[in-house]
Amino acid sequence: MSWEPVIGLEIHAQLATRSKIFSGAATAYGAPPNTQACLVDLGYPGVLPVLNAEAVRLAVRFGLAIGGTVAPRSIFARKNYFYPDLPKGYQISQYELPVVKGGSVEILLDDGSRKTVRLTRAHLEEDAGKSLHESFQGLSGIDLNRAGTPLLEIVSEPDMRSAKEAAAYMRRVHQLVRWIGICDGNMQEGSFRCDANVSVRRAGTDKLGTRTEIKNLNSFRFLERAILHEIDRQIEVIEDGGRIVQETRLYDPDRDETRSMRSKEEANDYRYFPDPDLLPLEIDAATLDAVRATLPELPDRRAARFVTLGIPAADAAQLTLERDTADYFEAVLAAAPAVEPRVAANWVNGDLAAALNDAGLGITASRVGAAALAALLLRVADNTISGKIAKDVFAAMWAGEGGADDIIAARGLRQITDSGALEAAIDKVIAASPNQLAEYRAGKDKLFGYFVGQVMKATGGKANPQQLNELLRRKLG
Ligand code: ADP
Ligand code: MG
Repeated sequence: MSWEPVIGLEIHAQLATRSKIFSGAATAYGAPPNTQACLVDLGYPGVLPVLNAEAVRLAVRFGLAIGGTVAPRSIFARKNYFYPDLPKGYQISQYELPVVKGGSVEILLDDGSRKTVRLTRAHLEEDAGKSLHESFQGLSGIDLNRAGTPLLEIVSEPDMRSAKEAAAYMRRVHQLVRWIGICDGNMQEGSFRCDANVSVRRAGTDKLGTRTEIKNLNSFRFLERAILHEIDRQIEVIEDGGRIVQETRLYDPDRDETRSMRSKEEANDYRYFPDPDLLPLEIDAATLDAVRATLPELPDRRAARFVTLGIPAADAAQLTLERDTADYFEAVLAAAPAVEPRVAANWVNGDLAAALNDAGLGITASRVGAAALAALLLRVADNTISGKIAKDVFAAMWAGEGGADDIIAARGLRQITDSGALEAAIDKVIAASPNQLAEYRAGKDKLFGYFVGQVMKATGGKANPQQLNELLRRKLG
């Protein structure tokens, strides 16, 4: 009998505000410990939280982008628990009435089909501080800089059926939060992390199995590996006659295993109740409209538009992984209307992406800007150079040798389109290859490529390929 995995994710996205969700302290990453925690974050008695309006706008932005319902009225609640990095003894979160309900995102599966993953909710909450166990012998340090940092917790329905689907979903949400500018998505710094809820059931049954929750996964790879591992572990336990206990587990990437951290608490362990220090959060239609007006064209839409320009769906998807890439691509098209979009897409996804990757640069820091790339592609489109030579010109541009036209002129790369010169080069090659000529004429068609190569070599790659083909065919035939 086969098993079906069931997975639901809780993603924590740190909202890109400058100050905290309930205080004026800075949220910038990397400050010395406890230099960005004010009395509110420290949980001093008598202080009052004040809600950061920007955090609300960012949550609304997300709600609109996923087609969810933004609640006209939502409530902040206290989630009570003790932990050294939580000085108040409770975390301010949202419980019964979250700011966003429903919505969905689509993921692309390996076979090219699409699947909808439904979202349950997204709610606002504050982050806790950090316990530092490494720097002190026999002691733990507490850094409260992160306490009070605004988070959007994005909860999915248990709609994923494999580790791959879960990773695809996490990538999709990551793409989206960055695209709409609500989270920097930096996973090393913990700005985007997730808990994976995993269960298994007999294939063909409806009832959900008991789940475990793997905490704090901060890379797509770890997410996938942790889930794969947890699925195997659960199947083994059940097949050995055991039962899965609902619990929280930790993934250890070094050992590639999950281990139990604590038995899972139930909601009522937290004694949730509405925070008496905070008013209900009311969001009116005018705010919704104002936020909606600033939403960019979303990645799916944009990719679909690229497909209408004749770009294959997979390439369009790659162009829209990041908004900056899509912007760059469209700037190339705007500056070079004579260039086929499909060709421009290949350059952006191909040579440019490889160069950026090698240099460890984002596209906004590209050494070849959109206008410069457009100028290069125009020279291919108007037959000044071949696509092959264009790669060399691109490399020279990347190395800082100047613009496409300068490099083509300085290096004498202009294509030979003068048929007299081409014919002379062909004649020379033919004269120097009597054996190949005889074989070719005896029916060894493959040798045509040999002649093309020889002429290209003789002309330094500058022969116009189409013209060369035609002339060569005539001369050999
Ligand atoms: P909690 O708040 O206690 O973590 P929730 O009911 O809010 O629990 O669910 C959290 C996540 O767990 C959601 O993403 C949900 O889809 C997922 N989930 C719930 N039940 C299961 C299950 N049996 N198997 C896998 N995932 C589940
Ligand atoms: Mg949970």
